[in-house]
Amino acid sequence: MKRGGIDPALKRTFQQRLLRWYRTHGRDLPWRKTRDPYHILVSEVMLQQTQVDRVLGFYGKFVKKYSTVEELASARPRQVREAWDGLGYYARARNLHRTARQLTHGHGGQFPRTYEETHALPGVGRSTAGALLSFAFNIDTPILDTNVKRLISRLFVHRPSPTPAQTERRLWRLSTSLIPKGKAWAFNQALMDFGALVCTARNPRCVTCLFTDICRAYPKFIRASGQQRR
Ligand code: SF4
Repeated sequence: MKRGGIDPALKRTFQQRLLRWYRTHGRDLPWRKTRDPYHILVSEVMLQQTQVDRVLGFYGKFVKKYSTVEELASARPRQVREAWDGLGYYARARNLHRTARQLTHGHGGQFPRTYEETHALPGVGRSTAGALLSFAFNIDTPILDTNVKRLISRLFVHRPSPTPAQTERRLWRLSTSLIPKGKAWAFNQALMDFGALVCTARNPRCVTCLFTDICRAYPKFIRASGQQRR
């Protein structure tokens, strides 16, 4: 994947501060206590279009009922639908079930370790593939969920690209280039948490943010809120 262009010193500053912040403020989530790719896939699929708080009520029960990819593969579609009941967007459950069957019957239950093979699994989009590879195997692959998109745009994008497709490509290049070598697990988790907890969609906490000196959007937010710059 093509690497984006950020000044190396700026990149290092961002990486170091973000990782330090994550060590103290990162969320304690059950799917972060495992490196089992199947459990991580379940959590990532549940988190598509659904808030963390809501997923917390379903994830534990689901992986208790189907604790391995083989167990999920051998379930009937009706049973999987029942286990997913209440979480919504049932196409996700169908795709997860198809993935489990594909991996169990075609790959001996083993998860792929390349981006292309992972992205080819049913219902696994580009960001979910990045999350799976980085959180299960610590492979340096980028993620770009809503929180990460917002954070990276505000921090590093001065002017919007002419089209949404160009914006998307640019953000993927940025999220790829920002990963510190060999630290994708912590770094991607940190990006998500900082976007969810500090650089929020509404009323970002700019006043207490650790990136005010490098953030492109900071002056705009401070002007809009009528607060004093730090
Ligand atoms: S200064 Fe504000 S807009 Fe910039 S990263 Fe921090 S919270 Fe987000």
